[in-house]
Amino acid sequence: MKTIDIIVPCYNEEEVLPLFVKETNAVIDTIPDYRFRYIFVNDGSKDKTLEVLKTLASRFLNVKYISFSRNFGKESAMYAGLKNSTADYVIVMDADLQHPPAMFPQMIEGIEEGNDCCALYRAKQTGESKLRQLVSKIFFSFQNNISDVKMPDGAVDYRIMSRKMVNAIMELSEVQRFSKGIFCWVGFKTKWIEYKNVERTVGTTKWSMWGLFKYALDGITAFSITPLRFIAVVGFIISIISFIGILITVIQKIFFGVEAAGYPTLLCSLLFLGGIIELSIGVLGEYIGRIFTETKNRPIYIASESNLDDEPEDDFDF
Ligand code: UDP
Ligand code: MG
Repeated sequence: MKTIDIIVPCYNEEEVLPLFVKETNAVIDTIPDYRFRYIFVNDGSKDKTLEVLKTLASRFLNVKYISFSRNFGKESAMYAGLKNSTADYVIVMDADLQHPPAMFPQMIEGIEEGNDCCALYRAKQTGESKLRQLVSKIFFSFQNNISDVKMPDGAVDYRIMSRKMVNAIMELSEVQRFSKGIFCWVGFKTKWIEYKNVERTVGTTKWSMWGLFKYALDGITAFSITPLRFIAVVGFIISIISFIGILITVIQKIFFGVEAAGYPTLLCSLLFLGGIIELSIGVLGEYIGRIFTETKNRPIYIASESNLDDEPEDDFDF
């Protein structure tokens, strides 16, 4: 029998977890040909998520959990789950039921068709503000245009992957992980299927606008050096333009005796160049920051406890 690990990052999800397991179990019961196991990753929750996970683990033998020593972020939580997975297939999904477990049969069918991955993208962003939808649209088009990885607009971290693909993902050991990009970067045959986004029923989103902005910036700088090239090109264009400007001023002065208006021209060009330089330093800083964090080579997460190595109590568990 093929096995499937379901990886669920959880941060302050005490309210939704029992419901999540109930709904997911209902779907799993309709797929008897596979053996499912949950790997919940408690990402340093401040509420009773860990207690809820322990209760669930005592009730369901296929519930496993890893608990972090602090909040390391969803990316680290996904990494921890993938690293500890052993099954033939691995599903990654959110705990808040925004990734409907009812899609399992379609996803399994997708991967069994001979793909290494079956991933989902949002058809309609119901339950998201207009501003968020716009920002997400801009992000995806920017990401697709300037970097090596291409993904459909609305791609989410809800997917099933083969062992081969998960092993490949584990080869990428970067600390600042941008999984959406990593999943695409490793390649493999991926089938994209559409799903209808649902509103979060319990709890609240863990993402602030600023958090999303940082995430988008991480995504872009992790997979593209186009911004670096871009500032070089801008610098080059500005030099050409100012060179032409100097030529014109000199020619006007020598041949036509025209005096250039000193003060406004100077101020404008100074401010303009100042702005460009500031921006360029900012872009450089983004990349240097990435190098700084990567060279420290710190672990991606630190676990404080887990029931993954506990002895299975009967052979239903694996
Ligand atoms: N999450 C996490 N660590 C964090 C933030 C979020 O593990 O620091 C988990 C969260 O519990 C949920 C998933 O990541 O299972 C997606 O989070 P959320 O629903 O807040 O994001 P959104 O759906 O709004 O993008
Ligand atoms: Mg959510």
